[in-house]
Amino acid sequence: MSRLHHLFPVLQDSLERVRLGSVPTPVRRLFGLSSGPAEIWLKDESLFGDGGWGGNKVRKLEWLIPEAKRRNRSTILTVGGLGTNWGLACALYGREHGLSTVLALVDQPLDEHVEAQMERLSASGAEIYFTHSKIRTIAAVPWLMLRHGPYFLPAGGSSPVGTLGAVEIGLELGMQVGSGELPEPSHVVTAVGSGGTAAGLMLGLELAGLDTKVVAIVVNDTLRLDSKALLRLSGRAAALLRSRGANLEGLTVSADRLMVVDDQIGDGYGHTTAQAQVARQIGARQADLELDPVYTAKAMAGLIELNDGRLGDGPVVFLDTNGPR
Ligand SMILES: *Cc1c(COP(=O)(O)O)cnc(C)c1O
Repeated sequence: MSRLHHLFPVLQDSLERVRLGSVPTPVRRLFGLSSGPAEIWLKDESLFGDGGWGGNKVRKLEWLIPEAKRRNRSTILTVGGLGTNWGLACALYGREHGLSTVLALVDQPLDEHVEAQMERLSASGAEIYFTHSKIRTIAAVPWLMLRHGPYFLPAGGSSPVGTLGAVEIGLELGMQVGSGELPEPSHVVTAVGSGGTAAGLMLGLELAGLDTKVVAIVVNDTLRLDSKALLRLSGRAAALLRSRGANLEGLTVSADRLMVVDDQIGDGYGHTTAQAQVARQIGARQADLELDPVYTAKAMAGLIELNDGRLGDGPVVFLDTNGPR
């Protein structure tokens, strides 16, 4: 039996959350993306977020902003690339809730997409340190901690608390399957940049009682994002819920739930690939999707490539995590 009925309360009673967007995000069938055997559906996270910027990072902030306050912090310190969606979401939604944001940013390949993002970042009110490389960022963090006394969050907001944002995506899918909005998916495909989205989804799908597997298309080669790391983060999010009183007896997220795909990275984080460019065009032309080059275009490229029988007949849900406004 589905655990769904007591689950939304479990999430809410365990930790505090601020609503930053409207749920559930819609699902719809997509046509003409690939000629493979699986039916393809969209779950549209791009629509999530009421504060001028959307996507999966806003889901994480629903849990992280109250956690910062619980810890009596008025500043968030976090890290990312020059085009960080995560850092921008922190700055915009944090500011609305009385939190300031300090960012330490590492270099990533510059293109129009990243330059536009850097302009939004500089208008966001965040205090930005250009630390250029991962090593220099790690070296700068202790000094930034002393200087700002912040709530430190890892890249992409993928702490156990942030991961809860994507747990709710899995629960929503359970609810949407239950109400007949879409058939039970065999797979959900998502881009993986820091792991929280894939890890939270696995936990949410397990909680919802769906057999759906998560296809984790890794786009970041600077963090460890293999199956062991993603399962561990899922486990840490479940442990957090338990530690705050949730009854998750007998619940385990097993490796069967996960397919990690690491052949779409190309030359690395933020480097586009020919397949991603094609996927971006197909997405725009066939389904009116605005895929970004860093994450969702690579995820769509992975989906199209795997839809040669490896995803069966589906249905396959593509999670559109990209949320520019
Ligand atoms: C951050 C991001 C992702 C990846 O999510 P993680 O939880 O960091 O793995 C996917 N798509 C977009 C558009 C993102 O900004």
